[in-house]
Amino acid sequence: MGKIVKFVCVALTAVLALEVCAFSNVRAEDTVPPDAPPTTVAPTTTVAPTTTVAPTTKTVASTTTTTTPRRILKPEDIIKISKIQTNKPIVFITIDDGVTVSPELAKVLDKYHTPVTTFAMPEMLWRARSWYRARQNMTFENHTNTHAHMTSISPSSQVIELCWSNKIIKGLFHESPIMYRPPRGEWSQENRIAMAKCGLKYAVLWSVAIESSVPENLVFHKGDIILFHYLRGLSTVLEQVLNKLKEQKLQPALLRDYLK
Ligand SMILES: [Zn+2]
Repeated sequence: MGKIVKFVCVALTAVLALEVCAFSNVRAEDTVPPDAPPTTVAPTTTVAPTTTVAPTTKTVASTTTTTTPRRILKPEDIIKISKIQTNKPIVFITIDDGVTVSPELAKVLDKYHTPVTTFAMPEMLWRARSWYRARQNMTFENHTNTHAHMTSISPSSQVIELCWSNKIIKGLFHESPIMYRPPRGEWSQENRIAMAKCGLKYAVLWSVAIESSVPENLVFHKGDIILFHYLRGLSTVLEQVLNKLKEQKLQPALLRDYLK
């Protein structure tokens, strides 16, 4: 009798373990439908990927061809930059949040086929998704889900901000971000933990910030990361900068081509 009870217990434990594994797989590989409107507040029931995902991801990768294996990072793998070290005559145009995209801006970007790295919140990207999808030389990276104060929220909230934003961006543009730009440039060493958990390898700050006008004597340098915002008037300012870069024999390039 004792043996039978023991056997039943072992069998139940095995079934339970399988169900738990299956459930964590579903959550790890869950994707957002391309046109699903993002929520600005991540659902509290969604648990951001934890270290328990790592062993199951390997198994999934070998049996599934439709999903990209999540990169496994450690906090010490995270690289924080504000400039790219290069001898090539290139600079990097990055554009953050703000809420204005326009036909005029599209015209400037398309005319010069300008490579742009966008760091915008998922809600804005979703609202203007047609405009963004029409850009040929643009990639989309992480700027949190709600423009959070990442130096003052809890570690678990940081993970939700970053992983949730990744998920929406992947749903919209079919590629997961690998870079994170801290809102307002607020940075803490603790952010490395959340970044690693969400597969974000690079914290990208900037070396030049352009607001509503371009100083006449502004000189750019090789490897500069230039910060703009999606504000009204961006098309004018951007065109001035592009002309200035041409005068200074520098060309815009895409961060994704230099940060892997
Ligand atoms: Zn911002």
